[in-house]
Amino acid sequence: MAALLNAPQREAIHYLDGPSLVLAGAGSGKTRVITHKIAYLINECGFEPYNIAAITFTNKAAKEMQERVAHLMGGRSPKGLTVCTFHALGVRIIRQEAVHCGLKPQFSILDAADTVQIVADAAKDSDKGIAKQMQWQISSWKNAMIGPDEASQLADNELAAAAAAAYAEYERTLRAYQAVDFDDLISLPVRLFETNEEVRERWKARLRFLLVDEYQDTNRAQYRLLRQLAGERGMFTAVGDDDQAIYAWRGADVENLRLLQQDYPRLKVIKLEQNYRSSRRILEAANTLIANNEKLFEKRLWSEHGPGEQIAVHGCREADAEAEWVAMKINAHRFEARTAYKDYAILYRGNHQARVIEQALRNAGIPYVISGGQSFFDKAEIRDLIAYLRLLQNEDDDLAFIRAITTPRRGIGAATLEALGHYAGARHIGLFAAVFEEDLAEHLNARQLEAVREFANYINRLKYRVTREPAGRLLEDLLASTRYEAWLFEHLDSREAETKWNNVRDFVGWLTRKGDEDGKNLVELAQTLTLISMLDKEDPDFDGVQLATLHASKGLEFPHVFLVGVEEGLLPHQASIDEDKVEEERRLMYVGITRAQRTLTLTWCERRKMGKEFRPCEISRFVAEMGGDLKLGQRRSNDPLSREEGRDRAAALRAMLERGGR
Ligand code: ATP
Ligand code: MG
Repeated sequence: MAALLNAPQREAIHYLDGPSLVLAGAGSGKTRVITHKIAYLINECGFEPYNIAAITFTNKAAKEMQERVAHLMGGRSPKGLTVCTFHALGVRIIRQEAVHCGLKPQFSILDAADTVQIVADAAKDSDKGIAKQMQWQISSWKNAMIGPDEASQLADNELAAAAAAAYAEYERTLRAYQAVDFDDLISLPVRLFETNEEVRERWKARLRFLLVDEYQDTNRAQYRLLRQLAGERGMFTAVGDDDQAIYAWRGADVENLRLLQQDYPRLKVIKLEQNYRSSRRILEAANTLIANNEKLFEKRLWSEHGPGEQIAVHGCREADAEAEWVAMKINAHRFEARTAYKDYAILYRGNHQARVIEQALRNAGIPYVISGGQSFFDKAEIRDLIAYLRLLQNEDDDLAFIRAITTPRRGIGAATLEALGHYAGARHIGLFAAVFEEDLAEHLNARQLEAVREFANYINRLKYRVTREPAGRLLEDLLASTRYEAWLFEHLDSREAETKWNNVRDFVGWLTRKGDEDGKNLVELAQTLTLISMLDKEDPDFDGVQLATLHASKGLEFPHVFLVGVEEGLLPHQASIDEDKVEEERRLMYVGITRAQRTLTLTWCERRKMGKEFRPCEISRFVAEMGGDLKLGQRRSNDPLSREEGRDRAAALRAMLERGGR
């Protein structure tokens, strides 16, 4: 392998005597160690790809890693190699071992919206806000591998007590639906491995070498899964950076870094200190900033790159102006530097900040892609369709049944569903199964009975076709026979209906292609849907500015980065200031800064809209913490660029660019 690797990187790649941990700062080539180690294991150590699993944090990262490995292996990704997220690995394990988990292989995977509903039902509390908080609490327990009994002992406030009380019922409901939530995807395999030696040994023999990226953000349950799979011998390489731990709020536990050393006394720790990503000024600013956090592990990063440009900090009047300024800068810089749009990223703290940015980019004629935004799968029209798919896959999925039978409306009302629900509940069977019970006729009137049976028969007819016909054709028939498009246009205004219908068409087109490519039928596609994000749809050649939250930007790099909304109350976030958790926000800022390769621009606003009111803002403390080598800019008070002026300037610039011929 003549590829560029430094000495400690090579050491980490070649080390096979036991467990190892690469602990190093941003951009030091940790992910590169993983991809090269996969190639090394296969090419030079005789490992079968089938025996190797690399675990990444997001689907996007998994996809990128697969591509990098394919590149190293001469163009093709090795057959049988596992590169996926912890959750996707969990799905595979549960699917193969379904009987041991008390599930059928066609179990459903529920997302947050579904589970909130179940928690609300279990707690008999219809307040969505409270149900959300309870779900959050239950999820934290599950991530920490705490069951309902233990939870009720731990609960130390009213909300937690209510959540603990609902927890057991919640779990029962999931099992009755033959469904699992996201947390189960990790905790079920862990429980299984801890209690069933035969199964555990089988998986240990299968996954002989494990590689884990972004190890600092694993939670306790994920750690236990890793430990079960790796066993005493611990044939794994984990890479991580404690300074980039940004998921504590979701149960990630940096303690896992210490635990690894405790549980594996032979753990080989390798440090990387050369940063290959960023210019020196950017790296310096990142180092200076993060020095304000208490250190877990001492690290130093240096770079051979030149100093590069100064980091620019620009103050704007408000978010609209900020977005317009960034759009204008990108157009101007792109023109000057002859770069592509995809060389630019705009990063922000919260998803809500994306809307104005999108607007400004559209106004300026700049193409863009968003990663990790509101999931495509959260859109109502997509969830409608997914409900049908889930029901086709798993008739015990009562939530899917209710959503599908009522969307589009087919004259089946709440009274019918309530009667059906009572009937099924009393007999401990699912709604779908109840429909065909003889004595249901005593509980529903003739018209109601006919309506629900007609629906169930319709589903059964589709089901019959699933293994016989391609996914695409079935989807088209499903849309046609439910008259979904017409229904959208009947109950929505035409613009909204059109947007939704386009989303549906997009989704169907994408599923059809995926079905053709992977040779999967509709039900097989349906099962993993909840896990995939529309990111997979992204065309890597598309030339667009990258928009992402700081959380979603982890592991990525871009030549030019704009970090917007660098204000007190936003970054650091107000909640974390109140709760004295600024350190995690500082790490988030560190992640943001270290995404940049060549230039970094920070922007902040003098005032920001909170609800209907404008609130004055101060520049983030983090800017001062980055050291003095910054280029400060401010809108001049005698030069208030109005929105109209901004738009005019953007238009003029666009015209100039078009004349420029690029
Ligand atoms: P992060 O903490 O942000 O995830 P990382 O430590 O995983 O960063 P990589 O993404 O693996 O870092 O590497 C950062 C950049 O440096 C990549 O563009 C990579 O190709 C490059 N790089 C890594 N190692 C070397 C090397 N030895 N020689 C040249 N370039 C390298
Ligand atoms: Mg990385």
